[in-house]
Amino acid sequence: MKLQKPKGTQDILPKEAARWHYVEEKARQLFSQYHYGEIRTPMFEHYEVISRSVGDTSDIVTKEMYDFYDKGERHITLRPEGTAPVVRSYVENKLFAPEVQKPVKLFYMGSMFRYERPQAGRLREFHQIGVECFGSSNPATDVETIAMAAHFFKELGIEQVKLHLNTLGTADSRKAYRQALIDYLLPYKEQLSKDSQRRLEENPLRVLDSKEKEDREIVAQAPSILDYLDAESQAYFTSVCDMLTLLGIDYVIDTKMVRGLDYYNHTIFEFITQLDGNDLTICAGGRYDKLVDYFGGPETPGFGFGLGVERLLLVLEKLGINLPVEEPLDLYVAVLGDNPQVNSKALELVQAVRQQGFSAERDYLNRKLKAQFKSADNFKASYLVTLGDNEIDTGQISLKNNQTRAEISLSLADLMTNFAQVMASQATSASK
Ligand code: ATP
Ligand code: MG
Repeated sequence: MKLQKPKGTQDILPKEAARWHYVEEKARQLFSQYHYGEIRTPMFEHYEVISRSVGDTSDIVTKEMYDFYDKGERHITLRPEGTAPVVRSYVENKLFAPEVQKPVKLFYMGSMFRYERPQAGRLREFHQIGVECFGSSNPATDVETIAMAAHFFKELGIEQVKLHLNTLGTADSRKAYRQALIDYLLPYKEQLSKDSQRRLEENPLRVLDSKEKEDREIVAQAPSILDYLDAESQAYFTSVCDMLTLLGIDYVIDTKMVRGLDYYNHTIFEFITQLDGNDLTICAGGRYDKLVDYFGGPETPGFGFGLGVERLLLVLEKLGINLPVEEPLDLYVAVLGDNPQVNSKALELVQAVRQQGFSAERDYLNRKLKAQFKSADNFKASYLVTLGDNEIDTGQISLKNNQTRAEISLSLADLMTNFAQVMASQATSASK
């Protein structure tokens, strides 16, 4: 029996969890500025929800699904991404109904699962923050959503991230391009990697995305989708580019970027950063106008992105960006001696302070006072009080401001009933 965590998973301990909270809280705040509401869907779905929508030749579906049969013989998979489940939910809950205000803007955050070879920034359970916007085929929606991601990175202090933009155009454009690509790649078939030979049969656009050296050399000269766009695709892409420029958002057009999922059309994008000299995508998304229809809803345009939280945190760390996550303790209660009455009083005191909405901690281990004061410093306690036989007998305590070291004397009862006022009076007496 293995008593370690499964390969490709992580325990997130409190110090690290504080960084997660910070990032998640920033996302919540920002997304609500853009009028997004949260959606929570199940962590597992029927296999079919993912298989065809994501694309049954995609790496996600062919190699990376965490699927199994449950006790009722249902084919289930842990969700590998957020878009298909959200679209499923959009249709199932009839959010397409006319009485629901359009566009419908939804965000989510949570675990995703992919059976991958674990490495830096690549896990089997990882977390995404994602957004989906339904019901607008206005290119301003594409730009607003991309701008929101850019805004998020800016808020976190990440400047070293580059927006890569491409278009897949309409179905017609893509069909024409696909043929051109096949015509170009076929003569090189034997020189392509095994995976790309397979991709050439199943989904030739994916060859463009290959990371294999032999493929990249061949792909470098491949025709560009931009030369195969019909008028509609061209106009759409131009609008997106123009509005990005208008908002002052830098981008590079990257015609080799095609994305790993099958459902996209028109705009696709990635935010890419460098990690130890390699490209690392932290956020990716695009437009998907056929997906709602695929799930049995009325044809509804969609746009969204998914952002890898582990990769984001990794990048923040590599960039030396320290998130302001320290939460000081309001009161630390040092406990002197092993008198059970003192022990109970200390418990009453921290509870009373907590009930007033402040944070409090105490000693439980009967340690030497010096060690307890050290804990108070470690926890960045604002105030410190020592409880011993003497304090219990007299009902008087000395409250120490742990930063200025100023002390005031007051009754224990006052501290327990009105901690806020005590702190305020201490602040004024210190300034006198
Ligand atoms: P990649 O090309 O790196 O495999 P992808 O195309 O499979 O990425 P998406 O499905 O677009 O990735 O997921 C969106 C984001 O989720 C990625 O940009 C990345 O930040 C994150 N992500 C994807 N797979 C993993 C994983 N296995 N571990 C950690 N983060 C991941
Ligand atoms: Mg992948």
